[in-house]
Amino acid sequence: MKTKDGVEINEEIKWKDICPGGTVAYPGSADLFKTGDWRSMKPVFKAGECKQCLLCVPVCPDSSIPVKDKKRLDFDFDHCKGCGVCVKVCPFNAIDFIKEGK
Ligand code: SF4
Ligand code: SF4
Repeated sequence: MKTKDGVEINEEIKWKDICPGGTVAYPGSADLFKTGDWRSMKPVFKAGECKQCLLCVPVCPDSSIPVKDKKRLDFDFDHCKGCGVCVKVCPFNAIDFIKEGK
């Protein structure tokens, strides 16, 4: 698929390659694009503190908290954008929030 500017859209393209205001949306495309490199802050899962209440899972706007066998797993950093909503909602202080790259 190509944009109207002739840029090839595929799983490897970075947001910087797309013109301002450009989109890469088509149904089901969100999973293909690794948008985690937008992140300036990063959540850190503290498994030892987690009570598996799963309150953080539905509030993530990027569906970046995978669940398996009724337990949350570590973050999907290919898609987490570091918004911090999960950090705010966790009642057990089981998620730290640090600068990306640390
Ligand atoms: S920081 Fe935001 S995008 Fe990342 S896992 Fe938490 S709620 Fe989802
Ligand atoms: S909200 Fe906190 S305690 Fe509950 S599942 Fe998420 S990280 Fe674990």
